[in-house]
Amino acid sequence: MIDYIIVGFGLAGLAFVEKLKNNNKSFMVYENYSQKSSRVAGGLYNPVILKRFTAAWLASEQLELALPFYKNIQDNLGEALVSELPVLRRFNNIEEQNLWFEACDKPVLKTFLSSELIRNENEALDVPFHYGRVKGTGKIDIKKLLSLYVLDLEKKESLIKESLEHNELAIETDFIDYKGLRAKNIVFAEGFGVRNNPFFNYLPLQGNKGEYIIIKCKDLQLKEAVKSSIFIIPLGDDLYKVGATYNNQDKTPDITTSAREQLQMKLERFLKVDYEVVDQVAGIRPTIRDRRPLIGTHPEYKNMHIINGLGSRGILIGPYVANKLYDFIENDGSLDKEIDIKRFENLR
Ligand SMILES: Cc1cc2nc3c(=O)[nH]c(=O)nc-3n(C[C@H](O)[C@H](O)[C@H](O)COP(=O)(O)OP(=O)(O)OC[C@H]3O[C@@H](n4cnc5c(N)ncnc54)[C@H](O)[C@@H]3O)c2cc1C
Repeated sequence: MIDYIIVGFGLAGLAFVEKLKNNNKSFMVYENYSQKSSRVAGGLYNPVILKRFTAAWLASEQLELALPFYKNIQDNLGEALVSELPVLRRFNNIEEQNLWFEACDKPVLKTFLSSELIRNENEALDVPFHYGRVKGTGKIDIKKLLSLYVLDLEKKESLIKESLEHNELAIETDFIDYKGLRAKNIVFAEGFGVRNNPFFNYLPLQGNKGEYIIIKCKDLQLKEAVKSSIFIIPLGDDLYKVGATYNNQDKTPDITTSAREQLQMKLERFLKVDYEVVDQVAGIRPTIRDRRPLIGTHPEYKNMHIINGLGSRGILIGPYVANKLYDFIENDGSLDKEIDIKRFENLR
């Protein structure tokens, strides 16, 4: 009998698997590549909500955990995956500048916002009202990280590239049986795919589709990530990720012309040089109406658990909630009410 079956290997599955590895637990991961949210993500970690200049939920605490978490994986996998990357917020007008300075004085934001106004020296960009700089930001090559990690799991025979079929699960008092594989626990980390999970599809996962375009632009020569109404994130070799869109109506997995047009229109408001769109990606963020993760144990089955609802900030939230869930299961810890799925028990 193994300790855990993990269903799904995006940022949530990764964070929980890493926790299991570090605690010498045995596990088997199922991944069917039906969802792409983690693989298409911008890869930015950023403790500040740049629309309103507020600190993200538990930003300091999560950042403190997440950086060593990803650096440790980077060391184990032996490839460069984590890099510091300054984020510059382009101000649209004087009012925004003033709001930024007000935010700089707030105790929670002081450590993350620089009060120095930064002048644009890049002729490819139109930035009449200057930039503010966010501190403590960076980028993780999630796509590469996940695929290297998958290779490692395959080598150790800890991954099955198949759908976990929920109707094949036999739930016994002390274990779960899945097609002859017995585990003490099962953890669902299916992202938006949880909508097809009969045990947890009562949870109010809304889903928010995000798309990026990838552009090639020789004359941009940008070293920092720039945030205006959209992000421009440098990828190297004159390539940049531009986006993302937020759409809570369309739940289809494919890229759309309307998203590309919307992103190009926003980009061209401040990019003054020629560029070419070379690619486009789409994924569905697992978002919840109260903007908090979905963590906990099934109301009926004590060996069935969930880690989901990472929303638009999976990089920072993943390691934090994986720790919470692990302690809850293994050390009989408690879960904060705001992340516990118990808050939605009335929806069953
Ligand atoms: C366009 C876009 C940009 C983003 N940018 C950022 C960013 O810059 N920074 C940031 O922190 N966050 C970002 N996010 C959000 C982040 O990507 C999500 O929070 C994160 O991907 C959620 O991870 P997850 O593991 O819960 O879900 P997913 O990544 O969707 O992973 C779930 C996995 O489960 C698998 N699965 C589902 N059902 C089954 C089954 N029955 N059997 C086997 N496998 C199954 C799926 O194939 C999938 O791989 C972005 C998201 C999008 C869409």
